[in-house]
Amino acid sequence: MKEIQVNVPGFRHDFALVKENRVNQNIGLVDCYRHLAPMVDTDVYMSWLMKQITTRKIPVIKRKVAGPLVAREFKLKKEFSADVIVNCTGLGATNLANDPMYSLRGAVINLVDNSKKIPKLMQAHCVSHDDITSENEIVFIIPRGTEKIVLGAIAEKDSIDTDIHLENYDPIKDMYRRCCEFLPELTKLNINAIDPIRVGLRPFRQDNVRLDREKGSSIVHSDGHGGAGFTFSWGCAEEVTYIVLAMLS
Ligand SMILES: Cc1cc2nc3c(=O)[nH]c(=O)nc-3n(C[C@H](O)[C@H](O)[C@H](O)COP(=O)(O)OP(=O)(O)OC[C@H]3O[C@@H](n4cnc5c(N)ncnc54)[C@H](O)[C@@H]3O)c2cc1C
Repeated sequence: MKEIQVNVPGFRHDFALVKENRVNQNIGLVDCYRHLAPMVDTDVYMSWLMKQITTRKIPVIKRKVAGPLVAREFKLKKEFSADVIVNCTGLGATNLANDPMYSLRGAVINLVDNSKKIPKLMQAHCVSHDDITSENEIVFIIPRGTEKIVLGAIAEKDSIDTDIHLENYDPIKDMYRRCCEFLPELTKLNINAIDPIRVGLRPFRQDNVRLDREKGSSIVHSDGHGGAGFTFSWGCAEEVTYIVLAMLS
């Protein structure tokens, strides 16, 4: 926490934040702090990223590539007229890079916040996962754009079925209950009827992120970003760029 205090603007370590933010004072919270952090609306961000590519007339080809990449490097480079292959295939790296990956399944619930039933939520709230609590005790409540609040989360190892909902899966019901217990006014908001739940698999790697050049090849790996792929993305992309430029020079 000391590192955040020194390096991150807007830091405040004060239990009074609980009451100020209308957080439930009867759920055993013992400490809290606040700081500024960048947030993105990932739907908007992903569209923006794709636009950066298409406006530069860079072709986007959607196709499954069979692995391992090392064995198919020459053929793939020829087929795509490429000098370098950057592998950022998340869980696909198990097969493509012979790198055992595992998933932590996650889910979020989308609430609609356009009715002025509660004071506008201007800050995100988060109780992150630690080793003391069970995996499914995460709370995050994130205002997104002007009319949406995203609730999370769960983290379930090697459960790859993404067809889970509030109706058929108790841990999602529990997640909703946890968030509402944390910030009781959320019960006044409706769950988005068209887009109620998003489920995804966080691509983890046993040894943390892999960002390196495959020895003796022109393949660069950037995978295993787990639950922080958006956060890491600019830094990892910059690092990949340095490696690729060094390879080409
Ligand atoms: C509920 C939830 C909440 C999250 N919250 C956050 C957060 O707050 N902050 C944050 O930073 N991150 C968060 N994440 C994590 C983030 O979404 C991931 O880290 C990120 O999406 C990983 O990106 P990636 O491009 O490495 O992998 P992926 O998004 O998994 O993309 C890999 C791509 O490679 C493709 N692929 C795989 N194999 C092949 C193949 N053989 N041939 C061709 N293509 C292939 C796949 O189709 C896919 O398009 C969250 C994730 C979840 C599920």
